Amino acid sequence: MDAVTEPLSPDAGPRRRALVVEDEDPIRDLVMFHLGLGGFDCTGLGDGRQALARLQAEPFDLLVLDISLPGLDGLSLCRAVRRDGPNMTIPIIMLTARSEESDKVLGLEGGADDYLTKPFGVREFMARTTAIMRRREGWRPGPQPSARRLISVAGITIDPARRKVQCDGRDVSLTPQEFSLLYLLASNPGIVFTREELLEKVWDQEVFVTERGVDTLVKRLRRKVEIDPAHPRRVLTERGTGYKFGEE
Ligand code: CA
Repeated sequence: MDAVTEPLSPDAGPRRRALVVEDEDPIRDLVMFHLGLGGFDCTGLGDGRQALARLQAEPFDLLVLDISLPGLDGLSLCRAVRRDGPNMTIPIIMLTARSEESDKVLGLEGGADDYLTKPFGVREFMARTTAIMRRREGWRPGPQPSARRLISVAGITIDPARRKVQCDGRDVSLTPQEFSLLYLLASNPGIVFTREELLEKVWDQEVFVTERGVDTLVKRLRRKVEIDPAHPRRVLTERGTGYKFGEE
C-alpha cells in the first residue's frame, strides 16, 4: 500500500478530535502530546463533571479517561457517555492506577474499549489507540492529508501535496516509502522513532517487513538526501533505539 498517495482515511476531512480526561497534569500532557503527533487535535480536562458537560455538547473521535477523577469518577462518566448524547459510540480508553486494577473489569463492562494501567509506556498507549481506531473506522496514524503541510528543514523542502522533494536546491526522486519515511522524520525534527514505530507508520499493515527492512530503507534514503551518506547530518541514527531527523 502506498501510504503517501492513498488517502490515510476514507474521510480525508479535518483531523480527528480527542478528549483527554485526566487530573494528573504530566500524564495528561504526555498523552496529548503523543496523540497530537499521531494526528489528533486534543482537548484536555481534569474534572469529570466538566468532561461530561463537554461530551454531552459535542462529538469527539476518541476519549481517554482516567478512572479516579475529581467531580465525577471515570466509570460513572463512561456509563453516562454510553447512555446518550453525541458520543454514545466513541472509542474509550480507560486509565487506571495499579491500586484500581479491579476497576478495569467494571470499566470494560461500563463500555470502555480498552484500558491501560499506570504507569504505561507511550508506545503501548499509541499501539492500543491505533488498534481501537482501526477497528472502528480503518483509521491510520499520522497527519490527515488535509493537514499535510510543506516542510522546509535543514536544506530539504518537502511538498506533500505535489509529492516533490528538493534537497540543497536540486529535485530528488523518492519511492513512496522513502518519501513517507522522510516526511515523518522531517516533520518531527529531533524526535526519535524506534524501528518498530517506523514499521507501523511507514509500512502500515505489510507484515512481512522486518526491522532490518527499516535500516535498508534508511540507507537508500541517505544516498539520496545526504551530501555524504557515510556521515549523515539529516537522517541520524540514535544508537540502540532508532532514527531521528537532525534538528539543525
Ligand atoms: Ca486521577
